[in-house]
Amino acid sequence: MKLDATDLRYVTSDEFRVLSSVEQGSRNHEVIPTVLIAQISRITGGQVNKCLGALAKRGLVARVQNTKYDGYRLTYGGLDFLALKTYSKRSTVTSVGQQVGVGKEGDIYIVKGTGSNVYNDKGKGREEDGIDGEEADEEHDSEYDDSEDEEIGGSMRILKIHRLGRISFRNIKSKRDYLGKRKSASWMYMSRLAAMKEYAFMKALYHYGIPVPKPYDQARHTIVMSLVDGFPMRQLSVLEDPSILYSKLMDLIVRMAYVGLIHGDFNEFNVMIGEADEEPVVIDFPQMVSIRHENAESYFSRDVECIRRFFRRRFRFESEEFPTFQETMHDLKQMQEEAGNGENLVNEEGVHIDNLSPRQKRSLLARHGLIRIDELVEASGFGRQLQEELEAYMMDVAEEPGEGENDVSSEGESESEEEESDEEEEESDDDQVDEVATQAKNLKLGNDDQDDEDE
Ligand code: ADP
Ligand code: MG
Repeated sequence: MKLDATDLRYVTSDEFRVLSSVEQGSRNHEVIPTVLIAQISRITGGQVNKCLGALAKRGLVARVQNTKYDGYRLTYGGLDFLALKTYSKRSTVTSVGQQVGVGKEGDIYIVKGTGSNVYNDKGKGREEDGIDGEEADEEHDSEYDDSEDEEIGGSMRILKIHRLGRISFRNIKSKRDYLGKRKSASWMYMSRLAAMKEYAFMKALYHYGIPVPKPYDQARHTIVMSLVDGFPMRQLSVLEDPSILYSKLMDLIVRMAYVGLIHGDFNEFNVMIGEADEEPVVIDFPQMVSIRHENAESYFSRDVECIRRFFRRRFRFESEEFPTFQETMHDLKQMQEEAGNGENLVNEEGVHIDNLSPRQKRSLLARHGLIRIDELVEASGFGRQLQEELEAYMMDVAEEPGEGENDVSSEGESESEEEESDEEEEESDDDQVDEVATQAKNLKLGNDDQDDEDE
């Protein structure tokens, strides 16, 4: 599905109000009765219908004729619009460029923007959560300074739109009850959960010095982050000494575990390689889990094995050395004991923690296992219950790839493409990772026949 930023200019304020009312109404109605829309928007009969007609023409809402009553529902286009509107207000997105990817469960666009909802010019977090709460000392931290961006009239960014509603919620509903009374808006709700989760983790990872894109903002089912000047690792074909990158990646897996996290989808698609410095940058976090997760060990080994396999196949490189979950947890414990409260730590260059910048300090604490991002995120906006809801959903969709059609989201989406069709796919052995990738692909394929472009 294509994102149409021109809507931003042409939607009138009444139409916007009506659209917001449709969104509000969709919290407890699958199809929102027209009378209810009129009530919420406080715009009277004839005018509401006119607005709804105009919005429907743009594909921002869709008319639904029900057996019980007629009404409207919000489309993905409508939700995209509302998110863009929010970004536009905050200047986190000032223009939308080309689409660079159709992901498994989301769309990726290049955008431009000047503002940030995380780090404003004074370096203080605008959002009130545990992680940004400690931003007071950022004023002198040049790495949070966006002045560079301003010079060129804004920075290039990535807008990632989560679209989890590409499968049937009907099947899920019959099996589980975790959606509760939010059933009616489940595609919106789940997509938003995924965006919230990804953003929460990206913020924390960035904050504690793990190389991830810089998070700028989050709205509804979308996030805005910095554009990594680089390419996905799978495009890498030659490496003079594969062992260097290999070690860096294993180190990243271990460093994430030291802050309590396992990526869960750590593969050649989700590692970007910097154009200039060839340093890896990790992306794509909606499936991240805590090291306390009951299946932590298997997720951890899967991530490690993914990288090992890629290096084996691509570079004919194999190493005896790789981290195991048990070892890593053992080392973590020991390191924590030695580090105490961290006041005597020194970094790799032998500089004492007291003489480091705030950012370096955080990074050093994180490297020594004194920061637990899984716990921080739980304590901030994205608690354990929400994570479990999202996880339950993700498990469900994995169990039923491509089955049935989604009754609440029929708006068009871009055609699914064969994501990968090179030698990797042919020789894929039947381990878990390939299975997950295939399932994800089936999800998309399973939805094809209901593709009706809404433009
Ligand atoms: P999905 O969940 O669809 O896999 P990803 O977050 O992995 O979504 O993004 C899909 C693709 O988009 C990536 O493989 C990468 O090519 C591109 N991409 C995503 N985020 C960025 C970014 N911050 N900078 C540059 N490219 C990105
Ligand atoms: Mg990805």
